[in-house]
Amino acid sequence: MAENVVTGPFMTGYRCVVCGAHYKPDEVTYVCPHHGDDGILDVEYDYEAAKKVMNPTALAASGSLLEQGMWRYRAMLPLPLDAPVPAVLAGATPVCEAPRLAALAGVARVVVKDDGRSPTASFKDRASALAVAVTKVRGSAVVATASTGNAAAALAGMSAAMDQPCVIFVPASAPPAKIAQLLAYGATVFAVQGTYDQAFELCMDACRRMGWYNRNTGYNPFMAEGKKTAAYELCEQLGWKAPDALFVSVGDGCIIAGIHKGLRDCLALGLIDKMPRLYGIQAAGSDFLTQCAEKGEDPLTKAPINATTVADSISAGLPRDRVKAFNAVKETKGAFIRVSDDEILAAIPELARLSGVFAEPAAAAAWAGLKVAAAKKMVAAHETVAVMVTGSGLKDVAAAAKACGMIQRATIPTEPSPEGLTKALKAAGL
Ligand SMILES: *Cc1c(COP(=O)(O)O)cnc(C)c1O
Ligand SMILES: [Zn+2]
Repeated sequence: MAENVVTGPFMTGYRCVVCGAHYKPDEVTYVCPHHGDDGILDVEYDYEAAKKVMNPTALAASGSLLEQGMWRYRAMLPLPLDAPVPAVLAGATPVCEAPRLAALAGVARVVVKDDGRSPTASFKDRASALAVAVTKVRGSAVVATASTGNAAAALAGMSAAMDQPCVIFVPASAPPAKIAQLLAYGATVFAVQGTYDQAFELCMDACRRMGWYNRNTGYNPFMAEGKKTAAYELCEQLGWKAPDALFVSVGDGCIIAGIHKGLRDCLALGLIDKMPRLYGIQAAGSDFLTQCAEKGEDPLTKAPINATTVADSISAGLPRDRVKAFNAVKETKGAFIRVSDDEILAAIPELARLSGVFAEPAAAAAWAGLKVAAAKKMVAAHETVAVMVTGSGLKDVAAAAKACGMIQRATIPTEPSPEGLTKALKAAGL
């Protein structure tokens, strides 16, 4: 069955990030045919034409961000303007001021963009909502993805919202809460007895065999487009002023690539006047891109590493969007930063206590990275810094429990009587 070509009002085509070749919207679907699965494409737009709707006045007149979510910026997405989207609204996540984090990092202002507050509790909703909307326009029978857990939950949730069959390949080692979420949404789940990288390959194979629409990160060029809406949102929430630096945790590299794309869009549209520095935070046990930056290795040809970290959402031995992610950091004069699992775990309660935002390990890693950057004087005292919290702490309660046991006494055993209360108060030092 032939599927429809999907494009948007201002989309002009694709550019290969490896060789620079251009393609029209109907010429390719996933990658540049010259480099196998690595020829990841960047979606291109007619910015001059888009300015008539993508300007502060027109956007302000269009309604409220809270009601529109990520679709507030849909003119800059590869989707027809009248295409239906999932009714559970992705995007419109809060920007929280965090003066105590700023004091600890020694910078003027820290804002936390809390994408844990998304419908399925992670940043991945922005990409998956677009993937399911695109699947509907294409007319594909099934949408599929491989995922460390959150992209899967997002695809399952957004598919449920649009009555779209979906298939998920997830490592069997993913946290139980994440797998339960997939099942609750009614996805068909293959628990792969292997790594995320192996699940990724199986999903590629299945999509080719079965003709399913493939949402795989760093392969499907539309996923960075969905994710870029976070950058538009952040800049608009800051009064169309970009922060000086952004801290983003990196696994496959699609989030940091998407945020870079959103910032490049905003700059091209005249919505912001400077490009922030992008800092990619990696777990020490999954530091492919940090290694590339340190050793001057080419991310396209470097061999995969063995990835292991407590931050399952950023465990990627071969980051699929590594070319875009590497460019995002390089072009903005940011850096890749490595943080240990202990630093990541300690960042969970610290971030929660000093900002009120509860993050899963991969998301707390962004704060851990800002602390490292502050110690190395990579951020300056007058700067405004954004920390992207990419997933909720409720996604991995076991990690939070471990972190709290690690840094402090656990709970206080309390007998249910007035004497018990007296004893407990004493034990708590109160
Ligand atoms: C997926 C994910 C990341 C990393 O995103 P990539 O695109 O893989 O780099 C970070 N944090 C959370 C919570 C995620 O789910
Ligand atoms: Zn190419």
